[in-house]
Amino acid sequence: MTAFGYSRWAALATALANTGPRQRHADLLRAPGDLAALLRAHDEPEPVEVDGADLRDALAARDAFTAVFDARDEAALAERLNAMLAGNARPRLVAHAGVPLHLHVDPPGASWGGWLAASGAMGLALLVAEHGAHVLGRCAAEDCRDALLRTGAGPTRRFCSGTCASRVRVAAHRAAARQGRRGSPAAS
Ligand SMILES: [Zn+2]
Repeated sequence: MTAFGYSRWAALATALANTGPRQRHADLLRAPGDLAALLRAHDEPEPVEVDGADLRDALAARDAFTAVFDARDEAALAERLNAMLAGNARPRLVAHAGVPLHLHVDPPGASWGGWLAASGAMGLALLVAEHGAHVLGRCAAEDCRDALLRTGAGPTRRFCSGTCASRVRVAAHRAAARQGRRGSPAAS
């Protein structure tokens, strides 16, 4: 998968979903500049010019992606992704000068939010078709719950980051130590 293939679209959809307000951070998508920064952080080539309509559509796409990651089972997940594709996607091969034929998923003239909805839904749908529905998950840290993609080899990824993994490990260790003190013979 290349940097400009569907894995990047899926990563963008996941990052967009994770801009929503959480226990650990406020809403990260409050201004058009926030959306431009998100796109640039995912290697979107210039020009990245974002206005209020782009932001509004991106927030609608964020709600839809959040619902996809929150789907309780495979049927609901497929239904939500299919609705996003039906509402936003018009896949077509495009050639720009000097760029080989490649796939655009959004309709011509779509806003950045429309592009995110269409390309992100296609990226997630292709990952689900390739790896299964478990590829879409959420961080096991109760105070995080960020959306994550389980595309790597090896054991099922539980945490969004090393930060969350070690925070939960330290908390569990402290809880066990407290438990140990309480249960120690010194108390009797
Ligand atoms: Zn996390």
